Amino acid sequence: MSEKPSEDICSTCQQPLHDSVIIEKDGEVFKSCPSCSSNAGTHVFYKYDDFGMRNMGDGRFIVQSWCPGCRLQDGVKPEFIFNC
Ligand SMILES: [Zn+2]
Ligand SMILES: [Zn+2]
Repeated sequence: MSEKPSEDICSTCQQPLHDSVIIEKDGEVFKSCPSCSSNAGTHVFYKYDDFGMRNMGDGRFIVQSWCPGCRLQDGVKPEFIFNC
């Protein structure tokens, strides 16, 4: 019997990998992709603007959770910026 380590926690910042972590750095905003982060075991950040926006149909736009590469499953991911 061995204790299984949690696979959904970032080894660096200890926040859940399925969370969208948003970081502001040098006046630019970056967001983690939950899908890429789960695969990597650490948060994977792209530019916030690279995620695209989702039209909620009532005049509101919210940022997409997953990066285009994970969402469309065409393998085309945004330019990688940094890990946690
Ligand atoms: Zn992290
Ligand atoms: Zn992704």
